Amino acid sequence: MFCWQCEQTKSGLGCDVAGVCGKKPDVAALQDLLLFMLKGLGQAAKRGRVKGLISREMDRFTVGAVFATLTNVDFDPARFQGLINQAAAYRNELKKSTGLEYSSPALNLEPAGTIEGLVEQGKQHGLKDTDNDLVLSMRETAVYGLKGLCAYADHAAVLGHEVDELYKFVHECLAATLDASLTLDDWLGLAIKVGEMNLKAMELLDAANTGTYGHPTPIEVPLGFKAGKAILVSGHDLKDLAMLLEQTAGKGINIYTHGEMLPCHGYPELKKHPHFYGHYGTAWQNQAKEFPAFPGSILFTTNCIQKPAAGTEGNIFTTGQVGWPGLTHIAARPDGSKDFGPVIEKALAMPGFAADEDKGSVLAGFGRQAVLSVAGKVIELVKAGKIRRFMLVGGCDGAKPGRNYYTDLVAQAPKDTIILTLACGKFRFFDQKLGDIDGIPRLLDIGQCNDAYSAIKIALALAEAFDCGVNDLPLSLILSWYEQKACAILLTLLYLGIKNIKLGPTLPAFIHPDILNVLVEKFALAPITTPEDDLKQILS
Ligand code: SF4
Repeated sequence: MFCWQCEQTKSGLGCDVAGVCGKKPDVAALQDLLLFMLKGLGQAAKRGRVKGLISREMDRFTVGAVFATLTNVDFDPARFQGLINQAAAYRNELKKSTGLEYSSPALNLEPAGTIEGLVEQGKQHGLKDTDNDLVLSMRETAVYGLKGLCAYADHAAVLGHEVDELYKFVHECLAATLDASLTLDDWLGLAIKVGEMNLKAMELLDAANTGTYGHPTPIEVPLGFKAGKAILVSGHDLKDLAMLLEQTAGKGINIYTHGEMLPCHGYPELKKHPHFYGHYGTAWQNQAKEFPAFPGSILFTTNCIQKPAAGTEGNIFTTGQVGWPGLTHIAARPDGSKDFGPVIEKALAMPGFAADEDKGSVLAGFGRQAVLSVAGKVIELVKAGKIRRFMLVGGCDGAKPGRNYYTDLVAQAPKDTIILTLACGKFRFFDQKLGDIDGIPRLLDIGQCNDAYSAIKIALALAEAFDCGVNDLPLSLILSWYEQKACAILLTLLYLGIKNIKLGPTLPAFIHPDILNVLVEKFALAPITTPEDDLKQILS
């Protein structure tokens, strides 16, 4: 196996024996084979479109299947077997309908009948299929960005928000990966195009979430417990949470969020449920430590899942694209609805919390509408010199120790700075009490990684208000990255021409040094150093 798609990759070079994330070589081979089949499907779909052959079902399948190959999403060989066979079935149907002859191996490979056979096929189709290291690096940068884009498009699609332009691009980009004639410049252009299309995907998801559940409003979220039965929801999907809240109404079960689900408390149509209580624990990388103590069932709606701690397997359920061998998976019905009965029954059979416990609270729910509603005051404070700088500190957080940089940076940020944050990177400092500047909280939680669109809209609105470009705003971006959704967001920021981004804790292994030089030259992208030195530079 060889995989280098996330920040925790082995020795900063690549996982070649087993994944640091827990991915075994057989699953790595199945993911490689699935991507290879999807590239063939991309070629067939591209040609099918020319003939007017468009299938929304197949489009949705494609983004969902690409999403399944993201870090910490699906570890279940049986689920990958189903996805590989389905990709081949869609591809073959398109081949029949178009009546064209195809010579590309990805268009002709028929999946083996067993998982073992598929694993052997997958071993022949790893990512290192070119000797050109620069092209490989740039192409995989685009592919990882595309994975993030597909995750956002999948979330939006479950809420009925889709645009053909995105699906068309996904198939074209997958097809392009099989085109050996593409040069480094072509791939640089395609990677930036991924960033552009990801902005559309995030906009679509923002419209899906706010259109369905309302605009987030600031809210104090309890970090403690309420006596009674309990269900913990992890991942990112709002619709799964909404369905679970409806199905648990009046059953005496309190619903808690974990990790990236925290911002869900800000959505009026979710918060209206009185049993949607609080946030339990911290972020995804602490699940092995935090889940065994949770006295109820746990539902994973999306990444990041890790190997369940011994004894908790029966309490944990997956849905959507998430999979772990042996865990019960709640599948969607054809109309998209889900029966969370098994999750609820498990929660009722478990002890729940014996007594109330107050552990304080955190403030969440600063989506773009909430922040921009006080834009006038914020501008006044900037002009009066009371706010010196905004710092967007966030991104996706990893499991490796030593990410205290972000905690320390926020703790050391001067009192005339505002910290905007989003994604699970915030759990490094989300409970710090930073106070306020004339009533504007110094720590504003914009939401999930999915809400990077909100952050972009805030930056664009401030630039308009100050009559300057985003790069001229008193704003610094200090981002942590872990998996492919962060790659997609970074490509979007580069597409928007945003410069001087500081990225850490380490730079992606798949970025070749020569390509990094281009990014440094063109976008002034820089690795983080120390909180002290970076703050000195940012505030100088
Ligand atoms: S997803 Fe990350 S940790 Fe897992 S195998 Fe790939 S590079 Fe390694």
